[in-house]
Amino acid sequence: MDSQDPASSGASTNRDITIVGAGIIGLTCALSLSRQGWRVRVLDKQAPGMGASYGNAGHMATEQVFPIADASILMRLPKMLMDPTGPLRLDWRHFPKALPWFARLLWNLRSTPYQSSVAGLRALNEPSLAAWRRLLDAINGRHLMKEDGSFLVYEEERSRETINALQSRMASQQVTSEYWQGDAIRDKAPQLSERIQGGLFFPETAHVVNPWQVTDALTQAAKAHGVTFQQDEVVSGDVDAQGVSLRMANSPTVRTGKVLVACGAHSAALTTALTGINVPLDTERGYHLMLPRERGRLPVAITSLERRFIMTPMDDGLRLAGTVEFAGLHRPPNMDRAWKLQRLSQGLFKDDLDIADASPWMGFRPSLPDSLPIIDSAKDGKVLLAFGHHHLGLTQAAVTAELIANLAIQGDSSVPSAPHTALDLSSYRLHRFAA
Ligand SMILES: Cc1cc2nc3c(=O)[nH]c(=O)nc-3n(C[C@H](O)[C@H](O)[C@H](O)COP(=O)(O)OP(=O)(O)OC[C@H]3O[C@@H](n4cnc5c(N)ncnc54)[C@H](O)[C@@H]3O)c2cc1C
Repeated sequence: MDSQDPASSGASTNRDITIVGAGIIGLTCALSLSRQGWRVRVLDKQAPGMGASYGNAGHMATEQVFPIADASILMRLPKMLMDPTGPLRLDWRHFPKALPWFARLLWNLRSTPYQSSVAGLRALNEPSLAAWRRLLDAINGRHLMKEDGSFLVYEEERSRETINALQSRMASQQVTSEYWQGDAIRDKAPQLSERIQGGLFFPETAHVVNPWQVTDALTQAAKAHGVTFQQDEVVSGDVDAQGVSLRMANSPTVRTGKVLVACGAHSAALTTALTGINVPLDTERGYHLMLPRERGRLPVAITSLERRFIMTPMDDGLRLAGTVEFAGLHRPPNMDRAWKLQRLSQGLFKDDLDIADASPWMGFRPSLPDSLPIIDSAKDGKVLLAFGHHHLGLTQAAVTAELIANLAIQGDSSVPSAPHTALDLSSYRLHRFAA
């Protein structure tokens, strides 16, 4: 990363913004804000795009309008959490810390908050592909997103009922899906085995050719637009009448007119330091296994209903991804969970996948207990917040960037406004977590 600094490190103006976090959220915001005329600096403790945004499944999951948990899984939850190799795992050492998060999750399963989470997810997902098109067009990056749809497939006859029920629930939320028989799915994806009985096709979904290529393209475009990058960790921050001070681990304090907190799963401490509000942010750790020898095996992303994981075709191979692990931010990864994805794939294809040169990975999904991100401004607009996008950060990044660009110019008539997405942001407010 280069470390040139357009805003003098001592003084700040109210026309400069410092973004903490160069994940997919920070980078899309950097580009939107710089295109709106802001002087933008991005701080990250590692190279851009190396957090959760590096290894996600690349699925533009507009169909996922339901929160991560609903009342129907309550009975199955204890058994699922106890199974060390299951798709959902709780490290019991993390349990005391996670308890308040789980308590809020359960509280949010009541009908009214659950329905408001569905509405909040829908409101972000519906405009998300259009926002991505606008952003990718602006950087000549349309080839990075394939708008070919995706499948949710099932193998067991008894799952047909589940699929039918899901399709009706989705239809009630205006999510378009088509039921396809197994043979029709195999016509489209001939490598799939006879075990696939059928599934739902989601025509209004997409996938990216590789998440890192997207963040790299955004980084290069942002640099070309004058955004500067500095590699260092933000340790804490304060807001005063003139602006914001960010204390750095290895470099002088950064002064800035506005700050955007976009540190993904690591956003809680800085948010508390800047706003005084404790956010119940936890992480759902997820894994992938990248298979470089499996280029071209699938035409679109395919999720298995029973096996609960996704397989996405990428430029550099097939990515198997999924699983949810509650083990906090500090415990080492258990890469057996990534290798388990290969075992899960057995039987789904006519021939087993080639795992030569496969590479496992683990990343931290930033998750709030109501399944909605925080997209907000605080402290008279000096602090902007965009984090907590859990399983949908890639999907919702471009729309989040448009919303943040709108928030940044609130009350400032001198900045040209170019809002594309205008949403009621009340569901994404920081203050929903104020005690
Ligand atoms: C296995 C898996 C599969 C997924 N699949 C999908 C999918 O198919 N579709 C989808 O939409 N989403 C998916 N997601 C979710 C998505 O990846 C995340 O929601 C998204 O990447 C979050 O982006 P972010 O920018 O908020 O966080 P990150 O990408 O984690 O970026 C945060 C950045 O902040 C930096 N940072 C943190 N603290 C500090 C600090 N104090 N100082 C400086 N820098 C700091 C980090 O270094 C990091 O670069 C998946 C996630 C996982 C783990």
